[in-house]
Amino acid sequence: MNHSTHTDLASIREKLRHYLVEELIPFEKSQGISYEDQLSRDFAKTIWKRSRELGFYGLQLPVELGGIGLSVSDLCVLKDDVAASGAILSPHVLGDWGGPSRIGNLVNVATPYQIENYMLPVARGEKGACFAMTETHSGSDATSIQTRAVRDGDHYIISGHKHYITASAFADVAVVMCVTDPDKGADGISAILVDLDAPGVSLSYDYLPMTGQHVDADIHFDNVRVPRANLLGEEGSGFKIAMARVNVNRLLHCPNMIGLARMAYRMSLDYASQRRQFGGPISRFQAIQHMLADMATGLYACEGMVKAAALMADRGEDVRKEAAMCKLFVSEKCFEIADKAVQIHGNVGVTKNHPVEFAFRRLRLYRIVTGTSEIQRNTIAKAVLA
Ligand SMILES: Cc1cc2nc3c(=O)[nH]c(=O)nc-3n(C[C@H](O)[C@H](O)[C@H](O)COP(=O)(O)OP(=O)(O)OC[C@H]3O[C@@H](n4cnc5c(N)ncnc54)[C@H](O)[C@@H]3O)c2cc1C
Repeated sequence: MNHSTHTDLASIREKLRHYLVEELIPFEKSQGISYEDQLSRDFAKTIWKRSRELGFYGLQLPVELGGIGLSVSDLCVLKDDVAASGAILSPHVLGDWGGPSRIGNLVNVATPYQIENYMLPVARGEKGACFAMTETHSGSDATSIQTRAVRDGDHYIISGHKHYITASAFADVAVVMCVTDPDKGADGISAILVDLDAPGVSLSYDYLPMTGQHVDADIHFDNVRVPRANLLGEEGSGFKIAMARVNVNRLLHCPNMIGLARMAYRMSLDYASQRRQFGGPISRFQAIQHMLADMATGLYACEGMVKAAALMADRGEDVRKEAAMCKLFVSEKCFEIADKAVQIHGNVGVTKNHPVEFAFRRLRLYRIVTGTSEIQRNTIAKAVLA
């Protein structure tokens, strides 16, 4: 439900802009922080706590968890602003990497014990969380996961291996999708909270995504003993819980992409008016103007569809199809925008770690994460043919 008003949103946006421009970006510059730095969990927590202190971190959470129940629509606006600021640490500001975005609607099924020990510390920026579904042999085909949780009295014994888990590098706890009943397919999957310092848990960092960011890792579970009190919802409801989370999450990835593409577009506008070739700014060439026109049009389309879907989510409507449409269109369109930004910037645009070059690599990833473009098309086709 939307508890925020337009005035609230305007003042939060202004405060957030001030923090990003006057504090975070100058801090990054003074510390020489770059996209591919390996940041420690403790360092990440200092950013989370500062964001919490300023009232941004966890705004989307219900009042009981210290949030204001910010609507999906308003959250999209803030996420877009944060990504468009160009701050390198931007995914930490609203908790995308380990924070409230990872727990999101899981609070709806959490018990008082889970809220006290996991949700509240994550909401306060004291603990980091990650969401672990994917395995080496189970990506798009998520119900084929093999990680097993076997009941042993008041505990589960968990064994398995999760692959490419965002924010595991900063996390203290993982929401792990496990098979509790192998005969029931999707209805035999359960979501269990696992402390990452429990005996038998280890992380490996054998790869880096093309962005070079140190955020993802594999998590190995070797006979890890977890209290049954850590089961989220009912046994066998894990896949439904995950899908409910994934639908809104797909939508909430969109403003991150739009913000990055917007930054690349704004930089392109500036660059095109400043860069001089053949006796004047390159913005006087129609070829450049058309690229800028396509970029502006693409952004407008992306913003419009995300806004419409976010309003549906705020009305409590099922956004499975619309979220898939947004994730598909926005990830592909924003990548095209970044590609044009690289083109307009010439050699500057292909220089490693220039913001436009980074946006291009980062936006490419989004066509894979949280369901590939093909999987989004499958979801949309299923809905329209139903
Ligand atoms: C940076 C990054 C962060 C990630 N973070 C997380 C995380 O936090 N938690 C988590 O659980 N997972 C995470 N993942 C995993 C991500 O969700 C998977 O990569 C994604 O679901 C696709 O699975 P896959 O990579 O195994 O590709 P595959 O499923 O092997 O797909 C390979 C190709 O086949 C296509 N394909 C597969 N099935 C079909 C089909 N039915 N119809 C048409 N085409 C199909 C795909 O679209 C793709 O083009 C992350 C991945 C990356 C790269």
